[in-house]
Amino acid sequence: MKSSIHNSFPFVCIFACLFLISGIVVAKESPEEFIKIGNKQIQELNIIEFDSSNPKNIILLIGDGMGPNQVSLVRIAAGGPEYRLAIDMMPYIGVVLTHSINNIYTDSASSATAYSTGEKTINGYIALNSKKEPLQILTEELHKKGYANGLVATSSITHATPAAFYARVDDREKEIEIAKQLVKADFISIALGGGQDYFKKIKEPNINFVYTLDDIDESDAAKDSRIIGLFDKEGIMRDKNKPTQQAMTKKALNFLTSNTNSCNRFFLMSEGSQIDWAGHLNNTEYLLAEFDDFDKTIRDIIEFVNRDKNTLLIVTADHETGGLQLLGQKDNTVKIKYTTQGHSALPVNVYAYGPGADNFTGVMDNTDIFKKISRITSINHSTCN
Ligand SMILES: [Zn+2]
Repeated sequence: MKSSIHNSFPFVCIFACLFLISGIVVAKESPEEFIKIGNKQIQELNIIEFDSSNPKNIILLIGDGMGPNQVSLVRIAAGGPEYRLAIDMMPYIGVVLTHSINNIYTDSASSATAYSTGEKTINGYIALNSKKEPLQILTEELHKKGYANGLVATSSITHATPAAFYARVDDREKEIEIAKQLVKADFISIALGGGQDYFKKIKEPNINFVYTLDDIDESDAAKDSRIIGLFDKEGIMRDKNKPTQQAMTKKALNFLTSNTNSCNRFFLMSEGSQIDWAGHLNNTEYLLAEFDDFDKTIRDIIEFVNRDKNTLLIVTADHETGGLQLLGQKDNTVKIKYTTQGHSALPVNVYAYGPGADNFTGVMDNTDIFKKISRITSINHSTCN
């Protein structure tokens, strides 16, 4: 599985980039596929009942392109219809409508802008409204309240979703400009992902650029050092020498919890970016590998929430990719079909766990995710003690 994904990576990049640049929804349907039903046993996960108080810390995990059908396919491929992924064990679930300001089809830029600013915008814009006016960004506001902020992505760290948490540009393809804005964004303490190509000409003595996870020293957090970790030229190849989302998220979390200068509060956004790229390619093997990493990341964070007891975990997606359909069973396989190589206009789910998780139920707009996080983080925690 690993080697075929590795070998296909240049094509992944080329196709994914073409789709991302064009934003085109390709109508061509893929043939039906038959995916083996797995026989994995459910791994136990302790789920605690939390009250509806306001948490100190927020962890937002985004599965780019992860619609409800992707979750179902991964569940069945792992252990059959009765299996439960870590995401399935999260007790509070809602539905998120994802349309952009002028289109029922959203791209990651306008969707991430809804999450990071609470405003809908035009596809391709990042943290600018439809008139190209700058919007307030969640992480910048949280920093003023004493939060340390961290970002993780398996794409370049300058890709649309992470970019919406620190940059304002009118075209998501301006990744060199986005990189410059990340360097200046002193409200981001740690940012880990790919994207070395976009930082080549940038020199900034106040930032500790690292190229392996081992080079990150958690004790730097207390010195207010800023870390930018770049682990591949663009998106991170799935390779034993490259960090997974799970490993990067763990490292970022260790760094943020070591930061004693920030009232011990943090916000962490971690994206499983390539679930989307697998959807664009209609490549199920790639999808299962990416989702496996995402679900392991969720499992780790649920365990962190159990230990910490003061952190809210929110898991959602920016949109669905691939128009994936699960059609039925044939022998020991599930019959599936992708209906597009672009994004679909389907709603996505939001899952929550931890104190305050009960805010994330019912049908909501993607801008409501920002509004709920803003409300939760402003109550009782507006100043450092
Ligand atoms: Zn996409």
